[in-house]
Amino acid sequence: MDTIQITLPDGATRAVPKGTTAAEIARQISPRLAKEALVARTNGDLIDLSRPLDHDAKLSILTAKDPDAVQVFRHSAAHLLAAAVLELFPNVKLGIGPPIDNGFFYEFVRDEPFTPEDLAKIEAKMHELASKDIPNERKLIPKPEALELYRQSKQEFKCELVEEKATEPMVSFYTTGKFIDFCRGPHIPSTGRIKAFKLMNVAGAYWKGQEGNPQMQRIYGACFVEQKDLDDYLHKLEEAKRRDHRRLGQELDLFSIEEDAGPGLIFWHPKGGIIRREMEDWLRNALVQRGYDLVYTPHIMRRHLWEISGHTGFYKDSMFGPMEVEKDDYQLKPMNCPGHILIYKSRLRSYRELPVRLAELGTVYRYERSGVLHGLMRVRGFTQDDAHIFCMPEQIEREIQDCVEFAWDVLKVFGFREYVVELSGGDMARPQDYAGSPEDWKRAEDALTSTLRRMNVPFKYIAGEAAFYGPKIDVKLVDAIGRPWQLTTVQFDFNLPKRFKLEYVGEDGSRHQPLMVHRALWGSVERFFGVLIEHYAGAFPAWLAPVQAAVLPLSEKTIEYARGATRQLREAGIRVHLDDRNEKLQAKIRDAQLQKIPYMLVVGGKEAEAGTVAVRHRSKGDLGPRPLAQFLSDLKQEIDGRAIM
Ligand SMILES: [Zn+2]
Ligand SMILES: [Zn+2]
Repeated sequence: MDTIQITLPDGATRAVPKGTTAAEIARQISPRLAKEALVARTNGDLIDLSRPLDHDAKLSILTAKDPDAVQVFRHSAAHLLAAAVLELFPNVKLGIGPPIDNGFFYEFVRDEPFTPEDLAKIEAKMHELASKDIPNERKLIPKPEALELYRQSKQEFKCELVEEKATEPMVSFYTTGKFIDFCRGPHIPSTGRIKAFKLMNVAGAYWKGQEGNPQMQRIYGACFVEQKDLDDYLHKLEEAKRRDHRRLGQELDLFSIEEDAGPGLIFWHPKGGIIRREMEDWLRNALVQRGYDLVYTPHIMRRHLWEISGHTGFYKDSMFGPMEVEKDDYQLKPMNCPGHILIYKSRLRSYRELPVRLAELGTVYRYERSGVLHGLMRVRGFTQDDAHIFCMPEQIEREIQDCVEFAWDVLKVFGFREYVVELSGGDMARPQDYAGSPEDWKRAEDALTSTLRRMNVPFKYIAGEAAFYGPKIDVKLVDAIGRPWQLTTVQFDFNLPKRFKLEYVGEDGSRHQPLMVHRALWGSVERFFGVLIEHYAGAFPAWLAPVQAAVLPLSEKTIEYARGATRQLREAGIRVHLDDRNEKLQAKIRDAQLQKIPYMLVVGGKEAEAGTVAVRHRSKGDLGPRPLAQFLSDLKQEIDGRAIM
């Protein structure tokens, strides 16, 4: 009998008869591993636990701890979905069914749309099939036979896939009971362990994602190995829904998108406008303190400018079309960079002036397809907190460090504690794909790396992820429910300085090309506002809150005192609202809570007499009576210190 050598992850080796399966080896190692095993990895490839091993190999038995194994599990759940759908709706045509983040989908063609009731039935059928613990079995079928099989069952999309993807004479299929699917696999051994899933929704998609192809209905499911993980995920989704900035934007009257104006264009209502002004005031002050110059540039400029910059080439798809003015083409700006470059170039610069840091809250317009627009997060018109730094090579590390420190300030001031930093570099095996010489790139990447190291900032280096024009640092902040948001970017550019022939006169009297860095902290005002709404679930800290205090008179009798208190607060610069409606106190409190106003000041006869207010905080509840002047100075301090509470 032939034996083969199996090397386990801990380095131990085992001699086993040829044809032994990973499942058998798992059983030899421990009953617990055998029970938890989902799939195996040999020499880097994932394989079924039941696949006989016929060579010496490195073998790992994978459980739910391994992300790849979880994806295999989800893929098996997708097959279970298709099996259930075929039992209930035998005439559907099958598309593809891959695992995705947090779950899976399978796509079908069916004349009628799947309804929520259908989904409930399908889900029940899946549970029924799962509880039968049906094995997932691999079968190899000759290609002509495979095609015939699908032709007979009128599965033309599957025929197409077999035609295109099956390169070997024998084609790999998986069966789950009666269900059979053209599939490379691997799969988990049987359906019994698929318990923690939930069908979420149905979405339309074109076959192979190509417009014009037949419309498929994709049924999406969330799926985890453990019920607890599914529960956590569903809870997080609920929480995200509760925080959805589109809903809160309406409830708190912050912004809207108007059908008459068009999709992806944001109208800032007065309360949203207050928050924006506070955000921008903070930013402008910080910019000036850090030595930036504030500039303004036009919203439309000659198309010729965008030809020089190259945008009409590589950025064409994201721009709105040109408009003709006096036989000349003009272009709505998708970026601020060329405008700042024109300011830099408006006169000859000396090394003594560098670095030149030009900042603008610059509104840009980009053509995003209507399908990807999303509230404040993906829009067609938005204002970037944009800046461009032009400097000498020896100044670059200092400038990068300042940008990163600036980003930290943003995190702190706006109440974020966690972040993730990524450094995207070039793939220098393909220098022809990049603007700038390999030496430029190396120097730039070194500057970024050494700055982050010096600042003790942990970061992930991603080779080959940079845009063609330069390496960059991205800072993703993590919000109150653990979601990362890509906001800050510090991006080198070796392309534009060359295209625009930028220069400065060096100490040596000759002309040099400056380094150029694009950087944005929030990304865009709109998007950052959306993130803030969701992060705070609409309960903004006092310094950002559109209304900072509500004065709630108990009755007609105390209305005069309430008016006086309101006036005093307003004159001291507090955004205060007097609720003088003829309503019960409970109703007034409830409404102020719904509007997420930080402080409610209840005034009754006792308070009027003593010159106090009964203070109530939206999350801390009753704080007791306080002299009005005391409350005012406390609140002032909270606002001026931009306290997060
Ligand atoms: Zn499959
Ligand atoms: Zn730029």
